[in-house]
Amino acid sequence: RQYAGRVVIHSLPVPGHFRVEEAIVGPFLKEGQVLVRTLFLSVDPYMRCRMNDDTGAEYLAPWGLSECVDGGGVGVVELSRCESLSVDDMVTSFNWHWQTQCLMDEKLLQKVEPQLVDGHISYFLGAVGMPGLTALLGVREKGHVTEGANQTMVVSGAAGACGSIAGQIGRVDGCTRVVGICGSDEKCRVLVEDLGFSAAVNYRQGDVATALKESCPDGVDVYFDNVGGPISDAVIAQMNNDGHVILCGQISQYNKDVPYPPPLCDETQEALQSKNITRERFMVLNYMEKHEAGIIQLSQWVREGQIKVLETVVDGIENMGVAFCSMMKGGNIGKQIIKISD
Ligand code: NDP
Repeated sequence: RQYAGRVVIHSLPVPGHFRVEEAIVGPFLKEGQVLVRTLFLSVDPYMRCRMNDDTGAEYLAPWGLSECVDGGGVGVVELSRCESLSVDDMVTSFNWHWQTQCLMDEKLLQKVEPQLVDGHISYFLGAVGMPGLTALLGVREKGHVTEGANQTMVVSGAAGACGSIAGQIGRVDGCTRVVGICGSDEKCRVLVEDLGFSAAVNYRQGDVATALKESCPDGVDVYFDNVGGPISDAVIAQMNNDGHVILCGQISQYNKDVPYPPPLCDETQEALQSKNITRERFMVLNYMEKHEAGIIQLSQWVREGQIKVLETVVDGIENMGVAFCSMMKGGNIGKQIIKISD
């Protein structure tokens, strides 16, 4: 079974933008191909950009109208006609078709070792995969976190896949305070009680600026920005001189007709300049040479329990569209995963 996308323009995605079809895979494996059974699929915010004819990013191709949708996936090789992969190997790809079984070229697949995640295969799509690397490399490449420097880090989208890991890495790397911003009281509770954040702010309740002032009495030194918009304006207004914004994502703007990164308001632009705050664009795919070591580091932290992993798992390929739209509205705590088969 597979999924097909439809072009939508600058509005909220809804499950009706997707449909499920029965299709026959094959019939023949070509040289260099494998047949894989899908175990887990990922839905991610960047996919919203792939729903537009113009994705706004040169590295993202739009999903074709009525073509099978693709994205991050992990599964097991069932048939192989290539040298490097054998039956029962576990593999992952950024270009996994939303299909229960699919034919894939060997060059699009990476072999993964289940012991890196103690058998939690879905972690390869989250904490020990692309979102985990985004958190790790974002903090390390752009955050300037220094042990003993008494820094306060704020993370927006803090209860999501990247944010929940980024905040924990901030703590491991030596920030004195790590404060999360997210969209529900339950998410705030999880951040503080389960993940060790110092405090959390629900942006849907009360004034973010006032709550931040209470949570960050010494101001903000490092800001891991997943959302942009008014939340980020409020954080940047409370940043200290020589602070650093990790410009990871701007999900609050993804349903709008604006380029990436979206323009800042004059006041925020002025605050960045007058306080000498860096705000460089960060892209995890620009650091491919650091991915292998990053995965090993993340795996070690997760297995030692230094970093806790949260997931929201939905069952069944027929629920891909529902899971994607839910994630875009905050229905997930941790990484949104779809379980396709055992
Ligand atoms: P998440 O797991 O964080 O899911 C998205 C979350 O965004 C939702 O759960 C929701 O949580 C929040 N959200 C949705 N709409 C809004 C809004 N209008 N205002 C504030 N929060 C909102 O997704 P990811 O961790 O996969 O991605 C997080 C960010 O990181 C995205 O911006 C994404 O584009 C970016 N990213 C960047 C990469 C890079 O290389 N730069 C790589 C991977 C991701 P809530 O309940 O808190 O609203």
